[in-house]
Amino acid sequence: MYCGVDIGGTHTQIGAVDASGNVLDHEKLNTTSFTQARDLVITIAYTILRMAKVSGRKIEGIGVGCPNVNPKTGMLRHAANLKFKEEISIKDELAQYFPGIPVVVDNDANAAAVGERIYGKARNTDDFLCVTLGTGVGGGVFCNGKLVYGLNGMAGEIGHMIVEPNGRPCGCGRKGCLERYASAGGILDNYLEICTQNNTTPQASTYRQVAEAAKAGDPLALQAFDKAARVLGQALANIACVTAPTHIFVFGGVAQVGEILLAPLRKYFAENLLFCYKKTAEEHPAVHAEEHPAVCIELSELMETFKDAAILGAAALARL
Ligand SMILES: [Zn+2]
Repeated sequence: MYCGVDIGGTHTQIGAVDASGNVLDHEKLNTTSFTQARDLVITIAYTILRMAKVSGRKIEGIGVGCPNVNPKTGMLRHAANLKFKEEISIKDELAQYFPGIPVVVDNDANAAAVGERIYGKARNTDDFLCVTLGTGVGGGVFCNGKLVYGLNGMAGEIGHMIVEPNGRPCGCGRKGCLERYASAGGILDNYLEICTQNNTTPQASTYRQVAEAAKAGDPLALQAFDKAARVLGQALANIACVTAPTHIFVFGGVAQVGEILLAPLRKYFAENLLFCYKKTAEEHPAVHAEEHPAVCIELSELMETFKDAAILGAAALARL
């Protein structure tokens, strides 16, 4: 079995996964109840050892998805959504409990991309992008069949591409980052801004309420998603110029609204995409070529099909 660990700001999920992607065993810890990252790692280690002992299965590899972790060193530092102050190598700390077993640590967006590659819709493509939309915005980039790490392992931080000069302040210290418009909090801000522009009292004060209002057809809530889609669509069209992907998979809590976001996202993406990434008129004789980008934007299969997508993505890290 492979073990997948997803360390999130609120919960840490630990699961045992078989080769077909079935989650055999599953446990949830409260991340906020740990004040030291080292204590969390020790509890994760003992949970995995217990799972292996009870089931009698051999651990073939352990993958850990964690925000802001450096995949090259396994070091966790400056994670905005985690409260840990100390800087430790999650990889080295965990590996000492599992001699001879590969332990791979990567950020949650890369874990989602690798999960899509191993278990999802990206099985047959070498060039794709996985965009995670949740508390933040992240990216996992596959190019020429390889996950792109770059100089220090931090490639793919697409949430901090500046999309609005002098725009909303971001947690990274700069202004106008994509994350401030297309994350859950960003979409809430879009909504509040649109309400002010329309001299309307906001009917929602959380992202979840905006998403519910959009599902019920509220025009201002739909505009908030439309703004996120416009900013994200432009950014993804720019990224296509760098890596020429065949697919872009959308993952994470915000992606759960489905077509409310995906339909305008495809529209804005197509509007901004450079001609050479579009299908030619010969390939699409019946319709105008501009309307059909050769890049497909789809919901992640990991999210659509599997219940424990984050565990699966993490476990996949150990199989790449
Ligand atoms: Zn930023």
